[in-house]
Amino acid sequence: MYSKAFIGGAWVDSGSEQRLQVINPSTEETLANVVACTAEDVDHAVQAAKAAFAGWGRTSGAERAQYLRAIAREIEARAAELAALSSRNNGKPLAEAQLDIADAVATWDYYAGLAEQLDGRQNADVALGMPGFSARTRLEPAGVVGLIVPWNFPFVTTAWKVAPALAAGCTAVLKPSEVTPLIELELGNIAQKVGLPAGVLNIVCGTGQEVGSALTGHPDIDKISFTGSNRVGEIVMQSAAKQVKGLSLELGGKSPMLVFEDADLDQACDWILGGIFYNAGQMCSATSRLLVHERIADALIERLKSAAESLKLGDAFTPGVQMGPLTSRAQLDTVLGYIERGRTEGLTLLTGGQRAEQFETGYFVEPTIFIDVPTDSALWREEIFGPVLCVRTFASEADAIAQANDSDFGLAAGIISRDPNRSQRVAEQLRAGHIWINSLQVVCPETSWGGFKRSGIGRELGPWGLSAYLEVKHITRPLTA
Ligand code: NAD
Repeated sequence: MYSKAFIGGAWVDSGSEQRLQVINPSTEETLANVVACTAEDVDHAVQAAKAAFAGWGRTSGAERAQYLRAIAREIEARAAELAALSSRNNGKPLAEAQLDIADAVATWDYYAGLAEQLDGRQNADVALGMPGFSARTRLEPAGVVGLIVPWNFPFVTTAWKVAPALAAGCTAVLKPSEVTPLIELELGNIAQKVGLPAGVLNIVCGTGQEVGSALTGHPDIDKISFTGSNRVGEIVMQSAAKQVKGLSLELGGKSPMLVFEDADLDQACDWILGGIFYNAGQMCSATSRLLVHERIADALIERLKSAAESLKLGDAFTPGVQMGPLTSRAQLDTVLGYIERGRTEGLTLLTGGQRAEQFETGYFVEPTIFIDVPTDSALWREEIFGPVLCVRTFASEADAIAQANDSDFGLAAGIISRDPNRSQRVAEQLRAGHIWINSLQVVCPETSWGGFKRSGIGRELGPWGLSAYLEVKHITRPLTA
């Protein structure tokens, strides 16, 4: 399967001789050499998806829901094996990989439900101001969609795209990240096992430059949904613009966590660490900018230092491990580069600040915290995508909100306070797509995912995630017709 693409319901040979070396980031051993497909493979996949759309696009939502539920059950049945595969390829602790699988199952089930409900929403009458006419609303699939995903939560981001796309009646070509393609390739086997009609889901691995750009520039792709960096997001947007394709973008973040003076400091410490060190900080929604009320800053920072230093780092399968390695050599270099930049800028390092020396292999970086970080520092403004927390203090609620909103990004934010009125008031003023009050990054399929400002365009999850793959059509006629 690693030497093939999943096209038209079958594993087919690619003409390519190129291979993507897929690494275990804890051991640095090669897990697999996956074929780097070509633009020609992308074209075959798009043609298969186009042919399948003629049938799949006209099935009822209830019919599609049966396939989505079958996929959910198959993932559930293989959960242990898939979680282990994800841990090996991503380096994330097994418990985190298990949560990813559970999230994917919940997403497939959720969109099965929305597919069923879609049938009841078709041909709804519209009340018209103009006498003598009637109009009805139809919600129809957007067509053939190209789905491009990153490597940090591969099975989750894939479920967030493929499940609503298929629920809407679209057919899809999925491009996994070249860093973590193994778990997505299993979706091909799952599609075969549940008898998903040929061509409804196609999977083509390869580089962004070859496979990614072939997808965004393909004339038969109606819509692109992309999750990844802002740098590539801009390229994708330009490419899609040439053909005026539909586009959803889920991009980066530099999310703030606000801790008010009435917070329980021990509890706050847990949420802060989870918000930046879960998945080794490789989260678009990482709360990487910590804003603390000046009255509690010293006490909280002392706790954070000792808690960060006692986090257990290690291989995903070591019992009790709390943080794994970074997922790739390239990401290790990026993160160490930012830490070095922090030193050059003269920032105050509270703890961490280097590769974790106790490991002979693996891309492990110490949990790192900089304090009193100036707002013009690159570490305060840019997405690092690693276990690096930057801390500042604030003097008042208004100051906290102003500092939190002073960012190009607006993906998420956290608030820690015992005062529910204040939390609500502050949440309403933060310019971000998801706000967590006294909790750690709770994401449910029913709520939306996506950001304000440069964090992206559009929303995934919830009914908005389904709407992203639907076109609205009206049929208007005279009452006499
Ligand atoms: P990336 O932008 O480097 O790559 C993402 C995907 O785009 C990969 O599959 C890659 O092969 C592909 N790609 C690369 N060049 C391309 C091109 N020219 N045309 C089309 N596709 C191309 O991002 P990454 O390093 O894989 O992931 C990390 C980034 O993803 C971070 O910035 C993170 O914030 C973001 N992210 C965002 C969300 C969200 O929901 N907002 C979720 C996860 C990750």
